[in-house]
Amino acid sequence: MTAPPNAELKVVKDATCTFCGCTCDDIDLTVDGHRIVQAERACVLGKAWFLNHEVEDRPSCLIAGQPASVADGVERASQILANAKYPLVYGLSDTTIESQRVAVGIADWIGANVDTTTSVCHGPTGMAFQGVGEVTCTLGEVRNRGDMIIFWGSNPAESHPRHFTKYSLMPKGMFVPNGRKDRTAVVIDVRKTKSAKAADIFIQIKPRKDFEALWALRALAQNIELDPVEVENETGVPLARWQDLMDRMKKAKFGVIFFGMGITMTRGKHANAEALLALARDMNKYTRFVCKPNRGHGNVTGADNVVTWRTGYSFGVNLGRGYPRFNPGEYTSSDVLARREADAALIIASDPMANFSQPAREHLASIPYIALDPKETPTTRAAAVAFTVACYGINVPGTVYRMDDVPIALRPAFESPHPSDHMILSAIERRVRELKASSLKNPGAHPSLRPA
Ligand code: SF4
Repeated sequence: MTAPPNAELKVVKDATCTFCGCTCDDIDLTVDGHRIVQAERACVLGKAWFLNHEVEDRPSCLIAGQPASVADGVERASQILANAKYPLVYGLSDTTIESQRVAVGIADWIGANVDTTTSVCHGPTGMAFQGVGEVTCTLGEVRNRGDMIIFWGSNPAESHPRHFTKYSLMPKGMFVPNGRKDRTAVVIDVRKTKSAKAADIFIQIKPRKDFEALWALRALAQNIELDPVEVENETGVPLARWQDLMDRMKKAKFGVIFFGMGITMTRGKHANAEALLALARDMNKYTRFVCKPNRGHGNVTGADNVVTWRTGYSFGVNLGRGYPRFNPGEYTSSDVLARREADAALIIASDPMANFSQPAREHLASIPYIALDPKETPTTRAAAVAFTVACYGINVPGTVYRMDDVPIALRPAFESPHPSDHMILSAIERRVRELKASSLKNPGAHPSLRPA
């Protein structure tokens, strides 16, 4: 959809970029009608996010690929969801917490399986949080206090380009007045990433040996003697280097471990995340030490928070029995679909048709599902009902959670001709409640309420 010609340039100050979990909220946007022509202070990824944004020139609603009114789409979607026996609600990491909240409400009304994209990135971290807990802090504390910054299995130089400059390495803070000079930066990874070039110390460990390396450090933290040959054989790194790192960690005033999918999506998964969280906890015997996952999607942290407020767990939750059950592997969407269990789905701001396994995609294509997305994707193309919605942060206001769980307000640049997903989801929730209420009055009308 093209902008009205020669629309007056508008400047939106302190807009929030939702491309990655840093959710930088200091971006000044210059807006020409329906186009953002400048995004001051945004990194290369943020610039691409803002400057390439185009309002989709297609109907706000398609039913079975045919243009339809939004009201008809809401009715069809509600009928599909209210009549399903094992519905699935999935996605959520690229929308506001206000919309996430309504989506989890729908899941509750229909007894659905609710899951977010966390299940395919930091799901193991979510499991480790349940088992170990998290010694945590805000990115503001890292900026003002952090003097020993470790990145483990994370490459922010490419995935979160302003992480170093805005929060973790370069800024001058209250207790680190000389910025970078006051910090020791360590990168631990299985390969020499772009981030490794920014580090004072780079430790290259053997692939799939994060667990062993973390436990070696945990042992050193407890002053337990280790066999140098065994440590080097297992981790690929001499014991003396681990000892040197541990000595520095103990001497730090405020240490931080940022970790990424190099920890969670390799051998060991949640056991790695648990070991890392436990290491941060161990270090507090000597000094202040915290850890934070570097989260990818703009509001995946919000999705974790909202699903946790509502159910007690952050992802992979089944509400089919009227109370939450958490079991990753059983209730995570790709597994539910691959086992051909779900008979309907509501997909919000996510594209499982592009990234789930073949069996999961095949089953999703065979069931009626509803997709909400600002853009056309493989998932919206195969949906029974597809809604084109306004884009969060660019077209609609709301709240997102930065990767450190700090809520950030969105300041949109211009209005979209498409409705927000919040509006659509709220309408579906109202209608689903009506349909469920009428099923209760007339149990024979709903398969799950018929007497056995
Ligand atoms: S670091 Fe992330 S949130 Fe900040 S401008 Fe770049 S892409 Fe956007």
